[in-house]
Amino acid sequence: MTEKLYYADSHLMRFSARVLRLESLPGGSFTAVLDRTAFFPEGGGQRADTGYLGTMRVTDVQEKDGEIVHFLSPEGERLPPESGAEVFGEVDREVRFRRMQNHSGEHIVSGLVHALTGYDNVGFHMGRESVVIDFSGPLTREQCLEVEERANAAVRENLAVRTFFPTAEELAVLPYRSKKELSGEVRIVEIPGIDRCACCAPHVKQTGEIGCIKLLSCEKHKDGVRMEMVCGRDALDLFRQYQKSVTGISNLLSAKREAVLEAAEHVLEERDALKFRQVALERQLIAFLADRAAEEKGTILLFPETEMSEASRRELVNLLTEKHEGIAGVFAGNDESGYQYILGSRNVDLRPRAKEINTAIQGRGGGRPEMIMGSCRASRAEIEKLFRGEDG
Ligand SMILES: [Zn+2]
Repeated sequence: MTEKLYYADSHLMRFSARVLRLESLPGGSFTAVLDRTAFFPEGGGQRADTGYLGTMRVTDVQEKDGEIVHFLSPEGERLPPESGAEVFGEVDREVRFRRMQNHSGEHIVSGLVHALTGYDNVGFHMGRESVVIDFSGPLTREQCLEVEERANAAVRENLAVRTFFPTAEELAVLPYRSKKELSGEVRIVEIPGIDRCACCAPHVKQTGEIGCIKLLSCEKHKDGVRMEMVCGRDALDLFRQYQKSVTGISNLLSAKREAVLEAAEHVLEERDALKFRQVALERQLIAFLADRAAEEKGTILLFPETEMSEASRRELVNLLTEKHEGIAGVFAGNDESGYQYILGSRNVDLRPRAKEINTAIQGRGGGRPEMIMGSCRASRAEIEKLFRGEDG
């Protein structure tokens, strides 16, 4: 059994211990078992600590049959500690502290939701960006706000977090939250007046250390809700990220930070109005182009200089063929990148001719007897030569 120093003191990040067993793994890494450790192994929804053991990097920590196994990878040419040697360990303080802030914050929120609604925490995941909790029933927006308010009040009250191992008799009469039926020694984490929960992870000593508890979202999930939240340093980081976005938008839209939503709505309204105007102008343009070209004899070929939507180009071909005998075509693009073509006719069956046209203009495409469309690589001169040649 490895002595779990993180249970006696969750803030202990530097310690010395004796190496009981050292095993080498393929690829130059090692595993080490110590007589005692401050490294928390993965468990209870919290990831394993990282840090240093001597000069070796601790990349993972797992608990197996009461023994805590440290996975070590050498940095540079430094040698691993030897079995029996005294070794110095240092946990990555910042990473661990953020996890304790989030995990203790999660207990507070789960305890408050349980007290308010009776719902259970049925899923818990501490990701890199946020903490995700699944609850067994629905929560309204007002209930979420109330939980957030009360959670932060519990932080301000700076309550002492108590962890203890009750006897079997004590446990039998002790009300506490637990995700599963527990056997063997049960560790209880108690936040007075807020929550009592079975948990194996290290927690903050005082709720004030959490700093801040922010709920991010609460959405329907299965029969209940999935809540996303973030605490402490992670909440500060997220706030900075949001601040950067809001300040950026505020500068772009020349709006005050508090007014970016209204400013963005205004931009979207303007965009919609412009789109509307563009459609009207495009309709006028195609009517004009169709009128002007209707006088032409033979095949009509248009290469509009103004960019227009495919729907408008199709509409233009329809307008042309209404009045015109023969083939009418609209080509959008240029000689460098090729053309998108639409060819139409009221009295010439285009479908059987599609293959021959595509071969001549290095194109691909097809369609109905009265309209074919596709793309081609030929230049404007080559396209004009093909169709004008036919007219000759
Ligand atoms: Zn827990």
